[in-house]
Amino acid sequence: MTKQASMTWEAEYDSIRGLLMQKFLPLRFAQPFEREFRLRMREQAQITLRSYYWLLFLLFPVSYACIFYDRFEGGTWQGTVSDFASIIVVGAVTFVVVLTLSVSAFLHAFRNSYFLYVAPLTIIILTILGLNSVFLSDEVLQQRSTYPIVYIMMIVYGIANMRLVESTLIGFGSMLCVVGVVVLLDMEGMDWSLFALYFGLANFVGVANGYVVETKERRLYLQERLLQLEKRQLNNISERMVQLAREDGLTGLANRRHFSDTFLIEWERARRERLPLSVVFIDIDHFKPYNDNHGHLEGDQALVRVAKAVQLMARRAGDLAARYGGEEFVLLLPNTQANGAKEIAEELLLQVDALKLPHKASSVGPYVSISIGVATVVPDVHIAPTRLIDAADEALYEAKEGGRHRVVVSQGL
Ligand code: GH3
Ligand code: MG
Ligand code: MG
Repeated sequence: MTKQASMTWEAEYDSIRGLLMQKFLPLRFAQPFEREFRLRMREQAQITLRSYYWLLFLLFPVSYACIFYDRFEGGTWQGTVSDFASIIVVGAVTFVVVLTLSVSAFLHAFRNSYFLYVAPLTIIILTILGLNSVFLSDEVLQQRSTYPIVYIMMIVYGIANMRLVESTLIGFGSMLCVVGVVVLLDMEGMDWSLFALYFGLANFVGVANGYVVETKERRLYLQERLLQLEKRQLNNISERMVQLAREDGLTGLANRRHFSDTFLIEWERARRERLPLSVVFIDIDHFKPYNDNHGHLEGDQALVRVAKAVQLMARRAGDLAARYGGEEFVLLLPNTQANGAKEIAEELLLQVDALKLPHKASSVGPYVSISIGVATVVPDVHIAPTRLIDAADEALYEAKEGGRHRVVVSQGL
């Protein structure tokens, strides 16, 4: 899975198993799996945000209560107006960002561009929060203004389900933004040690969390893929087993059981719709001597050739060609009159002649030939389905008795 995209089932299965056994998962899969994984992770992230967005609204007042709790005495603000305004403005911006994040989590159109809007929004808000202390004169408030940063980091690293590279980008990106703004605007009053402490620590925890989240998600993705592969394989096996249970191993035609099941279904259908149902029984002439003279293997090959000719006669959707027994075949022809069935039988007789399979011990001629019995009936509740089979069998017997290599049509059941 890390090397190439198009693989056999076994190779992909082994490759995924191998990856899952590894202690350290690679943080990149081969395409198209990486693309699929990222899409899945983004979808998961949006779902997580949708499930827990209310936590953000709960945490928001808590973080601001922590800032303000002892700064109001008798209902009046104890600090400077600019401190109050600064905290309120930053708080309002934070709230708007949280609101935007929450709303966008519910918009399907944002599913694929999840990171593209979460990342810039978070960097902006972290930069503003990081600079907040510069505008505060009260030292205690400066310290406390870092609380919302912890709060925002919690969202980004915990709820927003970022990959390692994404959380690292956001964390260090916002750190760089703060430094850039302070240096470019030549701001004063920045407490760098405080900044390094809370931003650095939060980022360290965030990056570690990003790694854990991503490897966990990757492992989950691989396990899901493994399950899918196993499911697909099981489906294939069961389909194959159904096929094998209905198919003749040598010729690939339907086997007798499949014929019998289909025969009864078609019988009922024909009875309901009052339509004729025809059965054509085919038997290879002098096949025992053929085996004795040409060998069993060549006998098998002759059976396969004749079977192909029989199969070609099943032209309509409901027609069925089956191997009924050793060197006996049967054609089931729904909605076919006796005349039509006879025509098909005669054509088949000629087709087998045309194969010109040499036969050293046939009384008919130098080539393999067949005898055919045809029977047709419009089914009725008073007629047993086996009567039709017996009638075709009897017609076939007549064909044999009459000298073989011919078609006999049963004259009524
Ligand atoms: P008839 O013209 O009266 O039908 O004579 P026949 O020899 O064809 O009839 P019989 O029923 O005596 O022999 C059928 C032979 O078909 C016997 C058997 O060895 C052969 N046979 C049945 N199944 C297979 C098979 O799967 N492979 C091969 N090679 N021979 C088979
Ligand atoms: Mg036979
Ligand atoms: Mg035979």
